[in-house]
Order: sequence, then structure tokens, then C-alpha cells
Amino acid sequence: MYHPPFISPLNFVFKGLFCCLLLDCRLQMCESLRCSDNPRRLGDCVPRISVFQGAVSALQGGKVSEQVDCVVVGAGVVGLAAARALALAGRQVMVLEAAEAIGTGTSSRNSEVIHAGIYYPKGSLKAQLCVQGRQQLYDYCAERGIAHQRCGKLIVATHEDQREQLQAIAARAAANGVDDLRWLEASEAMAMEPALQCVAALHSPSTGIIDSHSLMLALQGDLENAGGMVVCHASVREAAVAPDGIWLRTSDGTALTARAVVNAAGLHAPALAACIQGLAPQFVPRAFYAKGSYFTLSGRAPFSRLIYPVPEAAGLGVHLTLDLGGQAKFGPDVQWVDDPYDLQVDPARAEGFYAEIRRYWPALADRALSPGYAGMRPKISGPGEPAADFVIQGPDLHGVPGLVQLLGIESPGLTSCLAIGKRVACLLQP
Ligand SMILES: Cc1cc2nc3c(=O)[nH]c(=O)nc-3n(C[C@H](O)[C@H](O)[C@H](O)COP(=O)(O)OP(=O)(O)OC[C@H]3O[C@@H](n4cnc5c(N)ncnc54)[C@H](O)[C@@H]3O)c2cc1C
Repeated sequence: MYHPPFISPLNFVFKGLFCCLLLDCRLQMCESLRCSDNPRRLGDCVPRISVFQGAVSALQGGKVSEQVDCVVVGAGVVGLAAARALALAGRQVMVLEAAEAIGTGTSSRNSEVIHAGIYYPKGSLKAQLCVQGRQQLYDYCAERGIAHQRCGKLIVATHEDQREQLQAIAARAAANGVDDLRWLEASEAMAMEPALQCVAALHSPSTGIIDSHSLMLALQGDLENAGGMVVCHASVREAAVAPDGIWLRTSDGTALTARAVVNAAGLHAPALAACIQGLAPQFVPRAFYAKGSYFTLSGRAPFSRLIYPVPEAAGLGVHLTLDLGGQAKFGPDVQWVDDPYDLQVDPARAEGFYAEIRRYWPALADRALSPGYAGMRPKISGPGEPAADFVIQGPDLHGVPGLVQLLGIESPGLTSCLAIGKRVACLLQP
């Protein structure tokens, strides 16, 4: 077991006096920062959290750290959904986010598609949480007025030899409880989407698109209304299993001990897991990164539904998605990289995109594509290996009380966020 560094009692008294003096002005500052658009700094907010929990500066055998109930590390869509679920279950929740704002990681670099739950192996967490999460997300969007559209999608076979793959996809979807797919022959599919070229297709009416940033703001709003808070510029650098919870230290030197910690650090979740002293190494997966680049279409696309080719290894193929304004983008492709920050789109990759897209949209004009943006898949299986399932590790698995780790939360993580949040809250039930 790791113990937080020693702070002398004198230092503690000094700190206590200093905190009392600062508390009033910090409380006011925190109140004035409650607006979602204003990122907070941890040093400003710890006193407030401590006060409303009645647990100021727990003294543990001569060692001091702030005591909090739940800390969620990472304010992406999954961390925010987990924090919201915990707060709605009555926990006091603080979200620590390394960046200057919520949702600046993978959650703002994806296709913004609400997936139906079609592709994933039967019984996998991806299948279960996507199907549950999709319905929860549609309900939440309706309840909270979050912009979305149930536009539907076509999965298209462009060669006769892909029919079998399409049938396998239909069977897998049915096994996952996606019971609204419809098989279309070429004429029917091309009547729905006249610019399309295919030999057969599957229509998924329950696939849709969402404004992911509005979703994250709504999650943050619910969290804050339930008494929780998001603290930005707070990168968790050290962690250790302690006698009374999990001890954390952030980049500004602030130390906290939390009864419960959720590792929702996305691409960096394996690195965070690796730095938790007291967590057995078999619960720390190796991180792999699969970059996905997008190219945008100049002009309006002649499609009203999302168009997906049959999937490829490690991704769903270069598909066409639409945003809520009707702008079309293509991608993401799959490029294994070593650097999770390598998010530049290489314009030279456009060549491969034209070839892929023209299989189902032969009329795509030359020079119609421009480099868009890239997202990074937080993989925990490497090139050539079968795609790993979501990994949700609770105390029953790794034996650390109060710790939940969310690892490999790639697609369909956005769709599944509310279902993942509920699962986290269940795992951390006191
Ligand atoms: C190219 C691409 C397309 C996708 N398309 C879809 C889609 O259409 N539909 C769908 O359902 N899913 C999709 N996904 C998946 C979805 O985007 C992710 O599953 C989801 O965004 C993951 O959210 P997160 O909160 O786990 O991670 P993130 O959004 O990455 O958030 C993690 C946060 O943790 C913070 N952090 C990291 N380390 C620390 C630390 N030590 N201390 C404090 N904070 C830290 C980061 O700054 C970041 O803000 C796609 C993913 C990719 C890559």
C-alpha cells in the first residue's frame, strides 16, 4: 500500500489557517464559476467540495490530503455520463479534466453517429451497451432538447461476393436485439438513394446523428444540478491505493483522497491505470492507437442517409456521414500510429478515399474532398488482433475498493455513454 507523502502537523496548521482565510473568497469564486463555460481550477475548488462534504483536510496519521467522495478522471462524454449517473445516485462527484474544457479529446473527434448496435459480437459489452445506450440516448435527447436526427443508414454491398458478409451482419444484428434491419435489393436501395451504386443493402432505421457537444453540456448541466462539479486544468499524475480510499495527486500538486475513482481518461486510461500504485499489473492493458482521418465534401451530398460499406479490419470502412447541417464527411480510415497526439490529416490519404467512396458513389467528382479532422481510437488490441471489447473493471475484478476503470472505450462509446454511466454507478453502489 502506498501512503501519501508526509506533511508535518505544523504545515497542516499553517495550511488550515491559510485555507480559512482563503475559503470565503474561494467559495465566492467557485460560485461565480458555476457557469458551464468557465473552466475551474482544482486549487480554487477543493475547499468548496470539502466544505459541502463536511470533510475538510482529513488528517491521516500525520498525513493530510483533501477527502472527497467520488472523483471521475476525464471529462469526455463517457466520464461526464459516469459522473452524472453517480451524482444522480446521490454521490458527491468531482470530475478532474486535464484539458482547458470538457470534451476536447476523442469525444469531439468522432462521427457523431448514434449506432444501432449491429456489428458487435453477441453478448459483448459493446453490443449490450450500444443497444441499451442508443435507446437511452434518444430518450435523453428528446427530454433535454439535444439536437439529433434519426436519419437511418444503409450498409451496402458493392460486389456480389459481399452479399454473404451483409447476411452475416444482419444475423449478428438480430442476435444483438437489433430487430428493425431490412434487407434491400439494389433497385430498392437505389430508389431510396439515387446516387448510390450497390448490389444489395441493409437499411437501419434506428441509426442517427447527434450534436455531441450539446450532449456533453447537458450531461455536465445534470451533474452540476445534482451538486457535482467539473474542474479543468487538473491532470491526475499520481495515484495510489490508500487505507481510506484512493489517493490522487494532480499536476498543480493538489492531493485528494477519494472513496471512489473512475478512470475515464480515454486514450490515457491505460497510462493512468499504470500509475495507480497498488493495482495489480494484469489490470493495466497495453495502449494502441488507431488514427481515423476524415475528408469533407465540398458542396451538398446527394444522400439523406448515412452510407456504410461492409466493415473492414479495425474500423467500419470509409463511410459517409452527415452532420445536422447536412454537410457530408467521409471516414474515418484506419492508420495505426505510435503517438496519440498525431492528429494531422495527411492530404495524400485522399487518394485512397476517392477509390473507396467511388465503389458506392461512382459520381464523386475529382477534387471534391478536402482534409477534415482526425480522431484517435483508444485501442487495447493491436494491429492484426481481434478487436477488443470495452473493458469495465470494477472492484470485484481487480480487488481495489472504489476503483472503476473504463478501458478501450472506442466506438460505440458515444452511443453507449449513458449505459456505461449506469453500469459505473451500479459497480460503485455503497
Ligand atoms: C474516429 C472516431 C470515430 C468515432 N465515431 C463514433 C460514433 O460515430 N459513434 C459512437 O458511438 N462512438 C464513436 N467513437 C467513439 C467515441 O468517440 C468514444 O468512445 C468516446 O468519445 C470516448 O469518450 P471518453 O470520455 O471515454 O474519452 P475522451 O473523449 O477521450 O475523454 C477523456 C478525457 O480524459 C482526459 N484525461 C486524460 N488523461 C487525464 C488525466 N491523467 N487527468 C485528467 N484528465 C485526463 C482527456 O483530456 C479527455 O478529455 C468514435 C471514435 C473515434 C476515434
